Amino acid sequence: MGSVPADDQTPGGHPDFDEIEVGGLIAPGTLVDRLGRPLRDLRISVTDRCNFRCRYCMPREVFGADFAFLPRSEILTFEEIERLARLFAARGVRKFRLTGGEPTLRAGLPDLVRMLKTIPGAEVAMTTNGTLLASQAPALAAAGLDRITVSLDSVDDATFRAMNDMDFPVALVLEGIEAAKAAGIAPAKINAVVRRGVNEHTLLDLARHFRGTPHIVRFIEFMDVGTTNGWKMDEVLPAAELVRMIDAEWPLEVVESAYLGEVARRYRYRDGAGEVGFITSVTQPFCGTCTRARISAEGSVYTCLFASDGVDLRGALRRGDTDEALGALIDATWRAREDRYSELRSEGTPGLKKVEMSYIGG
Ligand code: SAM
Ligand code: SF4
Ligand code: SF4
Repeated sequence: MGSVPADDQTPGGHPDFDEIEVGGLIAPGTLVDRLGRPLRDLRISVTDRCNFRCRYCMPREVFGADFAFLPRSEILTFEEIERLARLFAARGVRKFRLTGGEPTLRAGLPDLVRMLKTIPGAEVAMTTNGTLLASQAPALAAAGLDRITVSLDSVDDATFRAMNDMDFPVALVLEGIEAAKAAGIAPAKINAVVRRGVNEHTLLDLARHFRGTPHIVRFIEFMDVGTTNGWKMDEVLPAAELVRMIDAEWPLEVVESAYLGEVARRYRYRDGAGEVGFITSVTQPFCGTCTRARISAEGSVYTCLFASDGVDLRGALRRGDTDEALGALIDATWRAREDRYSELRSEGTPGLKKVEMSYIGG
């Protein structure tokens, strides 16, 4: 064991996983929720479709040939998304993250990136399964995409093919990550959902693969999002256990948080080979610094990843509401927010009705 105490765990969140600048003084007049949290990040789902059927997200028994995905007319247009993004920006949001479903399936995505980048101070990121990055990275980079997170659960081809349940080879995702780097997008964060007994045996190889590169692997505890993925606590490998596994192989040391409330627990390899992160959403939840709102592909705003209902913004957009009226709806939704699901998670909560992850994105 290196420098990491056996029981070292720090509150984490879930795969939003970005730094949050909460904890400083909140300026008077800032929009805050009932727990005093400001609104800082907006996740925008641009499609509810995906070319993978990851069993922890869109199991094919549920999301099969008969599944009714949203028709095009029900999905927000880029103009509608930009208008909402500006209204959120006026309320303090600076970080926008495109997600899905699989965001790269949405035609013309670089156009949306370009539109969002016209918002002063906007940082635009994307979470993707990486399958289409090799072809799309140059256009996304040219449009101004600042950062990407690539979801990659294993570098073992057989394990990866089984987890995406589309028999998709890992080599093409690795190519996509390289293409993004070559296009000049900042080093990728690599998100791996950890499932005990599923990809557990390949996690050290994943860490090894990205050691010595600027890419940062973040291991995410399997979460009880939605209601279809058959989540069981037995399949959650506590991050503390994984920290110990990695530390035994390559000694780790804690990286102090860049921001108070940073969600991923960060460690660096003591030999200088880079960093890894752990998102302890289940074993050590932390909602106190959660500053994120999410817009589903059909334009409802959700104030928690585990929410059961959203507030319909598309209806307001399409009936011709003014910016003032739309803004007031956003304000009222955020002010009423008191979500802290991960802190309240208990035996009963996994069975509650919750929106699916593929619907509102991670
Ligand atoms: N399709 C894109 C992708 O996979 O990156 C974007 C959407 S996906 C819903 C966003 C993130 O949620 C991914 O990193 C995925 O691994 C994560 N995710 C989905 N289901 C999860 C679960 N049950 N537990 C933890 N993370 C999950
Ligand atoms: Fe698709 Fe992403 Fe869900 Fe996997 S995690 S099924 S890639 S939306
Ligand atoms: Fe996650 Fe909801 Fe807690 Fe935010 S409030 S960290 S979305 S569980």
